[in-house]
Amino acid sequence: MFRKLLSFDEAKQTIAKQFPAEPLGVEETPLLQSDGRILAEDVIADMDIPPFDRSTVDGYAVRAENTFGAEENKPARLIVSGTVSIGKLPRTTVKNGEAAEIVTGAPIPEGADAVVMMEYTTRKTETVTVFSAAGKGENIMKAGADIKKGEKILSQGQLLRSREIGVLAAIGKANTKVNTIPCVAVLSTGPELTEPGKKLYPGKIYDINAYTLTAAIMESGGKPNYLGLCPDNIERLHAALTHALDSSDMVVTSGAVSVGPKDVMPKTLDTLGKPGVILSGIAIKPGKPVTVASISGKPVFSLPGHPASALLTFQLFIHPLIQNMSGRKPQKSAAVKAYASMRMFPAKGRRTFVMVKLKRESPERFVAEPVPTAQSGAITMLAKADGFLEIPEDLQFIDAGELVIVKLF
Ligand code: AMP
Ligand code: MG
Repeated sequence: MFRKLLSFDEAKQTIAKQFPAEPLGVEETPLLQSDGRILAEDVIADMDIPPFDRSTVDGYAVRAENTFGAEENKPARLIVSGTVSIGKLPRTTVKNGEAAEIVTGAPIPEGADAVVMMEYTTRKTETVTVFSAAGKGENIMKAGADIKKGEKILSQGQLLRSREIGVLAAIGKANTKVNTIPCVAVLSTGPELTEPGKKLYPGKIYDINAYTLTAAIMESGGKPNYLGLCPDNIERLHAALTHALDSSDMVVTSGAVSVGPKDVMPKTLDTLGKPGVILSGIAIKPGKPVTVASISGKPVFSLPGHPASALLTFQLFIHPLIQNMSGRKPQKSAAVKAYASMRMFPAKGRRTFVMVKLKRESPERFVAEPVPTAQSGAITMLAKADGFLEIPEDLQFIDAGELVIVKLF
C-alpha cells in the first residue's frame, strides 16, 4: 500500500530537499573530446588574437601615404623591399617609397601601415605599380582585434559546441574544465518484457521504457547505463539495484511500483541502504505510484510501467534533476497558449496531466485536443501528442474554449 500520497508540489519539494540542485562534479577534458560538454569555468583570454598585426589579403604591405592619389591613370611606383612569409617574423621592413610582398595571415612588416590587394598592382622584378590608394590600416587585422588579452570569452555553464571549441583552440587551451556527466542506470522490470531484436514469445511484449528513458536521459544531459531486464523478484531486484547503484550516480527503474502482489519495488528499495524510500505515491495522474528512494546519497526513481506515465513522470521529476547534476542551466520547456477543445476534468484530488494534440484553427489560434487514452498502455498516445496541459488538483474542470498553456515535448 502507498504510505501517503504527497501532492505534486510536496513531492517536488521532498525531492529538491533530498537531492540538492548542484552539479555532480568537475573534470578536465581534452579539447578534442569537449563537444556537448558544459563549461565549468569562465575562460579569460591570456593572449591577444590575432597575436600580431596580420594581413587580411594577398598583396603588398605599404606606407599608406605612399599610395595616396594613386589611381588607374596615375599609379604609384614603389620599390619591392622583399617578401614576407607566413608563419615567421618578417625579415624585411618597409621604408618610405617601398613595398613588401605579403600573403593573407602573414605579419605586417615594420614600417608598413596598410596592404594593397594584389589585384590593384602589377609587378616588375624590382618594382610594383599600385593602381589604387590604400587608407591607413586598410587590409590589416590588428593584434587583439578578435580577442583582447584579459577578456572573458566564454562563461561557466555554456554548452561547448563547434564554435565555442574554436574559441578555445584560438587561445591554445588544450584542456578544459567541464561538468561531470551524471551516469544514470536504467532498469526495466517485469517477466513479460523482451529486448527488441529478440524473438517475442507468446504473452510477451517488447521493452519500451528502457529505450524512451535512455533517450530522455541523454536529452537531459546524462549518460545512460542500460542494465537490461529484471523479473519481479526481490532477490533478483536487490542484486540488480545493488549493481546499478555501484556503477551509476542515479538509478531509474520502471514497473513493479503499483499495488499488485508483484509490485515489489518499494519493499526492495527499503532493503538497500539508508534512508531508503523517501516518497511513495504522488497525487498526480498519470504517475500516482512514482516512488523515490535515496540510497547512500544516490537518487533512485521508480516509475510506473505504463510507457506514457513513465516518460511523463521522467520529464516532471527526473529531467530537471539531471540537468542540475550535469551543470546545465535549467531550461523552461517551450509552451504555447491554446484553447481547450472540450471540457476536461482532473482526476479527483490529483494534479492531472492531459496529453494533447495542437490544431491550428487560424494563424493565431491553436486548439488543444486531448489524445484519446481509452487504451491505457498505448505508446502511440505519446507519439501522437504535441505536449501536455496541467489541470490543478483543486480545479473542477477546464471548460471548452478556455485558454490553456500547453507545454511542448
Ligand atoms: P507495472 O507498472 O509493472 O504494473 O506495468 C504496467 C503496465 O505497463 C503493464 O501492462 C506492463 O506490461 C507495462 N510495462 C511495464 N514495463 C514496461 C516496459 N518496460 N515497456 C513496455 N511496457 C511496460
Ligand atoms: Mg510489471
